[in-house]
Amino acid sequence: MLWTNRCAVRIGSAGVLCTLALLLHALPAQAQAVPQIVFQNQRLSFSHATAQHNDVAVALHDPAVQSLLTHTGASVTWQPGERYVLVTTAEPRIVSFALGDTRYDSGDVSARAAFAPYERDGDVYLPLYALARALYLEPKNDRGTIVLQPQIAVAEVQSQRDVAAVVLHGALPLRASKRSVLRDRVVYEFAGFGSTLERSRKVRANGLSEIDVEMSGTTRDPLTRVSLVLAPGASAADGIAGAYHDFSIALAAHGALARTSTPPPPPVPAAATPAPEDSVPPQSAAPPPQAAAVTSVTGLQTGDGFDVQITVEGNAAFDWHRLLDNRWYIDIHNARLQAPAGDTPESAPSVTSMRVHQLAGDTVRVALTLTGTKQVDVAPSERGVSVSVKDVDSDSVARSGSGTVGSNATAYANPAPSGSAPADWKFSPTPGAPASANPRLIVIDPGHGGSDGGAARGALSEKALNLEISKRLRAILIARGWEVQMTRSTDVDVYAPNDSARDELQARDDIANHAGARLFVSVHTNSYSGSGPSGTTTYFYKAVDRGFADAMHRRFLAANLGTKDDGVVKNNFYVLVHSNMPAVLIETAFLSNPDDYSLLASAAWQQKMAQAIADGIDDYAGSPSSSSQSGQR
Ligand code: ZN
Repeated sequence: MLWTNRCAVRIGSAGVLCTLALLLHALPAQAQAVPQIVFQNQRLSFSHATAQHNDVAVALHDPAVQSLLTHTGASVTWQPGERYVLVTTAEPRIVSFALGDTRYDSGDVSARAAFAPYERDGDVYLPLYALARALYLEPKNDRGTIVLQPQIAVAEVQSQRDVAAVVLHGALPLRASKRSVLRDRVVYEFAGFGSTLERSRKVRANGLSEIDVEMSGTTRDPLTRVSLVLAPGASAADGIAGAYHDFSIALAAHGALARTSTPPPPPVPAAATPAPEDSVPPQSAAPPPQAAAVTSVTGLQTGDGFDVQITVEGNAAFDWHRLLDNRWYIDIHNARLQAPAGDTPESAPSVTSMRVHQLAGDTVRVALTLTGTKQVDVAPSERGVSVSVKDVDSDSVARSGSGTVGSNATAYANPAPSGSAPADWKFSPTPGAPASANPRLIVIDPGHGGSDGGAARGALSEKALNLEISKRLRAILIARGWEVQMTRSTDVDVYAPNDSARDELQARDDIANHAGARLFVSVHTNSYSGSGPSGTTTYFYKAVDRGFADAMHRRFLAANLGTKDDGVVKNNFYVLVHSNMPAVLIETAFLSNPDDYSLLASAAWQQKMAQAIADGIDDYAGSPSSSSQSGQR
């Protein structure tokens, strides 16, 4: 839509011709000039770039594209002959382009590019601006030059019990260049970033009432101010630049900034103290002489968890932090990475990925994605640091710690928050409710609803189908003795009409997390731009949830649903990532496929599908336990 308008404006009286050219996708690209494209004040020189429909086609293997991906911490998988181009961003979020399709998915959100990716000479050509936006780089016109401006694109509010946190995600590592405290607000400035966040957003969270976002500066030198408007008596911490381009700000509803209640600092050298989070990293300062070297980082699955051995040569200080969403990282200061950097998926029950990289300056970071509030032990070892993740969920895990390696090695862990005053709340935005506080409760999440219809075809809409199957599922589960809570039981948005996808999806997880449900089941209906794809898919994300997904999918195969078997697939769908309990997302069938469509339209089939889901739940979780209802099975 947008590109048609722009085209009409630009071409003026030749608008009709323009529209024709746009309709005829098969036409060779018009001899449009490719604008200069600038990222981080550097001109990107592509080996082959073709202007197409107000975007630019660039080859995946073009060094300039690769450099863009490297700078934003993204990676791409594609082989000649493959249909899908999968980009994993730093967050990580999966962006999926398909050859011949203008539609692409960025996380759980669908968008349209100006033209469809295509294969030529063993490489795939992608719409650069769409790719950039997926990487949170906004293409901005600066007098004919296109500037790929880094954005702060997500502000996630996490609120549980008596703590809350705001987590910002940026295109690049995010650090506040300034923090100021005004009468009712704390303002964080981010130099070099624009923002796609809404300008003002009301929030209901401990101590926080509103997030205001203001942009200034120039296209090439932007500045974004994020103001947290606080409730009376509340306070906001300095903020921590975390892994995955996160910047986390912890909030306390009442008084006392944390520093006074932080336990006495451990006896470590000055280098172990994290730099003040509200200052720019001292990049200009030369690393101190005799920097240590991190010569290897090895992850190893063990009998009861996952071990990481970090070999350090020389003396160094480290500190480690546990972030929101069960992400965990250790920073080795005064050290250079002499082992390969990289992001490796892991399949241990307690760890799903390990990321090793050199931060600006002299810090080496090893980041882990944990599958829950796992117990992590950190200790200096003979050759460096050893990190041991036990596959044990705990409600009171330590949030941060520090130590040294080399001569006089020491280690220290800050205790877990206790009671209503977390000891180190600056680093401790909540472990969440204990999983399965109510082992008899199943939360069913009918996808979409209200202002978000999901897919639609003919007389059928996804939101209505999801709800219909979910209601049937609810009836079966209740009859079997389960307690059931639906994230919605009518045609409504769970958070608010026309809200952000993140708010909407987080609201669904919040229901399950706060209730301490035993299981979370999200019901969706698939769709595609062509009528070809069909079938039933069971998605999971956390490695520990694989068993649940397998149990569910076995029932789909046994139930003779009449749909194609699209298998059990791992995907970082938001609701699967942010649920505290085992979770699956089911794409029951494709609305866009004629055979699947007629199945979806049939009440008998909907019932069969609901039955199969219920059986999958029982296979995995057993009966609703000790209840007196067991005879009903
Ligand atoms: Zn859906």
